[in-house]
Amino acid sequence: MTRTARDSVEVSSASSAPSTTFESIDPRTGEVVGEHPIHDAAEVSARVAAAREAQVAWAELGFSGRKQHLDAWRRLLSKRVDDLAGLICAETGKPLDDARLELILVIDHLHWAAANAEKVLKRRKVPSGVLMANQTATVEYLPFGVVGVIGPWNYPAFTPMGSIAYALAAGNAVVFKPSELTPGVGQWLVDSFAEAVPEHPVFRLVTGFGETGAALCASGVDKVAFTGSTATGKRVMASCAQNLVPVLVECGGKDALIVDADADLAAAADAAVWGAMSNAGQTCIGVERVYVVDAVADRFLELVTERAGKLRPGGEPSAHFGPITMPSQVDVIRGHIDDALRRGARALVGGKHSVRPPFVEPVVLTDVPEDSTAVTEETFGPTIVVQRVRDADEAVARANDSRYGLGGAVFSRARGVELARRLRTGMVSVNSVISFAGVPALPFGGVGDSGFGRIHGPDGLREFARPQSMTRTRYRMPLNPMTFGRSKGTIRRLMRLIRVVRGR
Ligand code: NDP
Repeated sequence: MTRTARDSVEVSSASSAPSTTFESIDPRTGEVVGEHPIHDAAEVSARVAAAREAQVAWAELGFSGRKQHLDAWRRLLSKRVDDLAGLICAETGKPLDDARLELILVIDHLHWAAANAEKVLKRRKVPSGVLMANQTATVEYLPFGVVGVIGPWNYPAFTPMGSIAYALAAGNAVVFKPSELTPGVGQWLVDSFAEAVPEHPVFRLVTGFGETGAALCASGVDKVAFTGSTATGKRVMASCAQNLVPVLVECGGKDALIVDADADLAAAADAAVWGAMSNAGQTCIGVERVYVVDAVADRFLELVTERAGKLRPGGEPSAHFGPITMPSQVDVIRGHIDDALRRGARALVGGKHSVRPPFVEPVVLTDVPEDSTAVTEETFGPTIVVQRVRDADEAVARANDSRYGLGGAVFSRARGVELARRLRTGMVSVNSVISFAGVPALPFGGVGDSGFGRIHGPDGLREFARPQSMTRTRYRMPLNPMTFGRSKGTIRRLMRLIRVVRGR
């Protein structure tokens, strides 16, 4: 018996015989893309055990050995970009060029992780300090062992690879549970690794629904990296808490873009529309809210309206963006539009009629009450809320008035960096949107309901390693307080020393 990803919720409670496989579906056409096993807890544990066995040799390779293998995988990915891009299109519905852009980022991040792991994680000396001057002090970052990666469907290669590439470069094995909507992309990534690095089976797949993800959390993995909704993130944390398994939680956002009075309005409007509508708005760091200073609001709204009004969703290659990948999200998007309009907002582009499943046409809303769900909840659709504010300071205050804190953007000629630093977010772009995701050296992650922990950059490598601090005795200290044989004057002399060097 086969379940499809999209009817899983209904079928799981109604069906008596348990399914063993499920289908992934092209959201543009409803056609079946592929069939995949539903892995139960026993199978998940077996795969984690196999990954754990393989990890030992992977860790022993050291940084340069692993780099050679990860570089081989990167070259294979580069050669086969269009195969994987085609599969991403089929499982998410996004336009081919958007899938290619996702893979361009994957390749660059994989390069960075492999090239920089040694510099960031290798053993290094630190000052041993005044009290332990007889010790050599070092710290190094050692792999956890097996990392469980639970991925989303909106960027089914780029987002999980932000954990997978960095975890592998740090010397871990990875067991990957892709979203039930994009299992084929997960399978492709694992197969391509196996082809490029056949001697080290350290990247494994498990497929299925939420239960498979839950089984991965409980399987004895040494760390879990999760990307998805805040609600599921909390469930993942609760499950990991049972065994004190550390977690990285990358959830959604309600990112704001601030337009100051001196901003380049054409550039700001272009970025706002692209940030909000590309990938049909299904981007955790997508622009969902804009706060524009009153003095330039009319002109900015004109520019946004003109640009957004020209965009067309569809399944054909010329479409600006594709369908809503997860059917249930359509109700969320519709609910946010309805709530805003019912409570007095104005639609400058689109409206209720824009929701035509599986597609949603662009919607630009303004004058939306700040407690409307269109302002407070993640919409994850091609909609944007543009609000007028008195000045940039009010814009910062309103942008920060959110339980989320993932990314953000500021358009301003004079005050860009100053305003950006005041945003309570993990990432921010000045005079662009989303750029930080394309800089592999920059950590990626949020605060508040957007989660915690970091992928990408040096922090993203350290996230998948345990620091091990070490001291090595170089010579015997004349004043040794850590022995029962210490003299009476030892502590007195140390007290005098600490007062002289640290007491002033
Ligand atoms: P979920 O958070 O439910 O799913 C994310 C991943 O977690 C999937 O692989 C999912 O598997 C898995 N999962 C589900 N339940 C569990 C569990 N109990 N234990 C472990 N893993 C589990 O997100 P949805 O796909 O349902 O999307 C819901 C909302 O989340 C969206 O509307 C959007 O607002 C937000 N979202 C944010 C993303 C981001 O990039 N930050 C990405 C995707 C969604 P399965 O798919 O098989 O259920």
